[in-house]
Amino acid sequence: MDLSEDQIQAIVHRVVQNVTAASPEETEQVPSKESWGVFGSMNDAIDAADGAFLVYETMGIQDRKRFTDGVRQVALDFKETFSRMAIEQTGMGRLTHKIAKHENVAKHASGVEFIYPECRSGKNGLAVDEYAPWGVIGNISPSTHPSPTMLENIITQLSAGNTVVFNPHPSTKKLNATVIEQCNRYMVKLGAPRNLVTCVTEPTLESAKIMFQHPKTRLLSVTGGPGVVAEAMKTAKPVIAAGPGNPPVLIDETADLEQAVKEITMSASFDNNILCIAEKEIFVVDQVFNTFIQAFEKQRNKKLVGQQMDLLADQVLQKDGNHYFTRRDFVGRNANVLARVLGMHLTDEVPLLFGETPTDHPWVVAEQMTSCIPVIRVRDFKEGVEQAIKAEHHFEHTSSVFTRDINRATIFAKALKTDIVVVNGGTLRGNGGDLGEFSFSHTIASPTGQGITNPRHFCRHRRIMTAGALRFV
Ligand code: NAD
Repeated sequence: MDLSEDQIQAIVHRVVQNVTAASPEETEQVPSKESWGVFGSMNDAIDAADGAFLVYETMGIQDRKRFTDGVRQVALDFKETFSRMAIEQTGMGRLTHKIAKHENVAKHASGVEFIYPECRSGKNGLAVDEYAPWGVIGNISPSTHPSPTMLENIITQLSAGNTVVFNPHPSTKKLNATVIEQCNRYMVKLGAPRNLVTCVTEPTLESAKIMFQHPKTRLLSVTGGPGVVAEAMKTAKPVIAAGPGNPPVLIDETADLEQAVKEITMSASFDNNILCIAEKEIFVVDQVFNTFIQAFEKQRNKKLVGQQMDLLADQVLQKDGNHYFTRRDFVGRNANVLARVLGMHLTDEVPLLFGETPTDHPWVVAEQMTSCIPVIRVRDFKEGVEQAIKAEHHFEHTSSVFTRDINRATIFAKALKTDIVVVNGGTLRGNGGDLGEFSFSHTIASPTGQGITNPRHFCRHRRIMTAGALRFV
């Protein structure tokens, strides 16, 4: 019997699927963690994801949609469990905000809608450009949003047709392994091959190195601070790097101050400021400085006075070479926890501590990622722009301006050159989701230029050209 190419493909597909995908009944009986994507060694995790890719690449875009919808469901079903685990394992952030981050991923992570071919026809024939998968993508995820980053990366990268391996932050390894296990369980029930997503039980710098150098990881997606970004960029592989930010806000004398204080409080205090896009320092022009401070205090933020910003910096921030960073024990802590360092007793509801500092103060220089924000007096809009550029350290990540002068907003956006510029709103609004517009991501790749990433960024761009034919008009 002669079989067509399509028939052979279909048979191979069915056989491989039978081997790798179990029925829901069978899945309940599999005892080993490794069946659900969690591996003792990085080499095994990569090999398993590579094996899954051989099956996944035979499947269609509808399958990708079905499986990634399963991952969205994991985000919803486990939003509270994962959020509680993150707090237990890191001590960072606030439960309600963490739950909201999972809902945001479920609703807004970019999916298969970004993957469609583009074509041009002309007198020379027909050219079709396709967004093709790479294969296995090696991921590094941060401690600040352990499960939302992982879930969002999985949705985005599976939508692009890849399989995904993680070397997560060691402090959240248990949570990350649970996320991988649940994603595999949900997707296998929907007919997926096992190990579309994998990770290691004990992530270390050594296992990261193996992932960075392994011939089967075709692309790296790295989210974290300057150290890991620099490390990943040393490899010969293509890298999508989501690095640190230090977003400045500038408020000029034309701004709606009521709007500014509400927006900044909402955004900078969200999950205790651990988002890389959250405001980290506020520049206010002299003319409205005192009014701003009073209005900011009315939002229940606690003003620090005298030497208190210095004293708190001495305890909370640490210098490493030329960089200030926040001591691990203080990252993502509630304002009242920081206040205790100064002997102050505040309620849990205080969103932020704040105080006036000079522009070269450690609170301005550091990407503090905790509930204290410096406010800096500047002479005028021009000086504000100059100081904002300096404070941003040319990360070109995120910035915002409050002004009613549209020309100034344009000047600010051109000067700061950040991937996200928000005008008259909290910086959180720049990243899509319920608060913004358009695409959302937990991987904002400033160092490598992709900005707010979507599935297309995790694809190879390929073309087929039919010369002199198939143009039918
Ligand atoms: P981190 O740099 O301490 O760790 C991030 C990840 O890198 C972890 O998995 C860690 O194990 C790994 N890592 C660190 N050094 C490494 C090395 N030399 N080799 C291999 N792996 C290494 O960061 P964190 O505290 O977990 O996360 C906060 C940082 O991440 C902040 O700087 C924040 O701005 C950034 N971040 C950026 C984005 C973005 O979209 N741009 C999103 C989230 C977090």
